[in-house]
Formats: sequence, C-alpha cells, structure tokens
Amino acid sequence: MPVWEPHVPRSPRSRVTEQSCCAAYEWCSEGGQYVILRPAGDGYEETGRGIYARARQVWNELLEQHAESHKRRTK
Ligand SMILES: [Zn+2]
Repeated sequence: MPVWEPHVPRSPRSRVTEQSCCAAYEWCSEGGQYVILRPAGDGYEETGRGIYARARQVWNELLEQHAESHKRRTK
C-alpha cells in the first residue's frame, strides 16, 4: 500500500492533468516529477512522487483497487 503524506508543492508549476474515477485521485505533473494527489480535509495528500514510470505504476495500482471497491459494492 502506498504511503500518503501531506502534499507540499515543490514547484510553482504544479499541474493536475488527469482525474481518476469518482475524482478519488489526481495525477499531477510538478517540475519534471509526477505525483498522485488525493483530497484530504482542506488540502491534499500525495504519494508515488518520482519519475513518470514509477508514479504511473502506483497510479495504476490505486485505480485497480478503486475499481475493485466498486465491484464489491455492487455485488
Ligand atoms: Zn469510482
């Protein structure tokens, strides 16, 4: 399971380019790095910060888990 930490933008060019199912997660490009955000209280938490391939792997895992939670709920 990924570790979530409070999101502290490390670049003024923090940009959300994608939103997952139910807006559960946001894919954010930040100064050449990528990071996954999720809403937490009045801010965001982040996980998976790093190069595209690594962050994308975490993103895909999170989306899979999210899809699973839909399946469980409808059955
Ligand atoms: Zn969903």
